[in-house]
Amino acid sequence: MSVMVDIRSVHKSFGSLEVLRGIDLTVRAGEVAVVLGPSGSGKSTLLRTVNHLEKVDRGTISVDGSLIGYRRSGNRLHELPEREVLAQRTRIGFVFQNFRLFPHLTVLENVVEAPVSVGKRSRREAVAAARALLDRVGVADKAGAYPRQLSGGQQQRVAIARALALEPALLLFDEPTSALDPELVGEVLDVIKDLARRGTTMIVVTHEIGFAREVADTVVFMDAGRIVEQGPPGEVLDAPRHERTRAFLSKVL
Ligand code: ADP
Ligand code: MG
Repeated sequence: MSVMVDIRSVHKSFGSLEVLRGIDLTVRAGEVAVVLGPSGSGKSTLLRTVNHLEKVDRGTISVDGSLIGYRRSGNRLHELPEREVLAQRTRIGFVFQNFRLFPHLTVLENVVEAPVSVGKRSRREAVAAARALLDRVGVADKAGAYPRQLSGGQQQRVAIARALALEPALLLFDEPTSALDPELVGEVLDVIKDLARRGTTMIVVTHEIGFAREVADTVVFMDAGRIVEQGPPGEVLDAPRHERTRAFLSKVL
């Protein structure tokens, strides 16, 4: 299968703190990579570099064949203008821990907004597509409600529908169930599992080991800005080669 995400030698510092210390990761089209690691290991920063919410200091990231944030000419990289970065970002959906829905818009309008404002669809098409997406994530009956009237699990499912509305080539999830009450975690993971079955390419940062075992093609364990090990769940989760991976798993399992 073709390569969807290609992360090469990515370094990123905040001041004197090197948060990403040479990250190499490839995700093929249709695959799910699950990223695990202790708090502060650089997981969120890595996701944010993939859609250029953070600029890398060194290294390159390509998504679906396009260099993210830069244009290559000869051996030089030139930063893309903001307008082109925004256009690249429409191909990459991002789902946050804390949902980040627009509080003043109804559920339906939250999903309709992006495809209309970027000019991808007419309003009529966008409304029809949004209703289909809300149905798919199981909140069709909430189309006219406001985010505050929904449970956390419902809000996160709306956020997933919103991310899907631009038909992204890649979906990024940053601890999508960490803000949820335990009884609501399953309904959100079920939606992500359904996306996986449909062949959506995803990078999912989570502490849900059972989900990783079931859904991941590749499990990536990060610690202190490095990928300590990566491989199929049967290897990384069940027979980790590194002491740090073992120590982490013994805490979260
Ligand atoms: P994780 O998601 O694995 O918990 P993060 O990527 O959020 O880790 O953070 C990695 C490290 O980078 C942490 O030490 C964090 O405090 C630091 N960090 C993250 N974002 C910033 C920022 N914008 N400015 C300064 N330090 C940051
Ligand atoms: Mg994080």
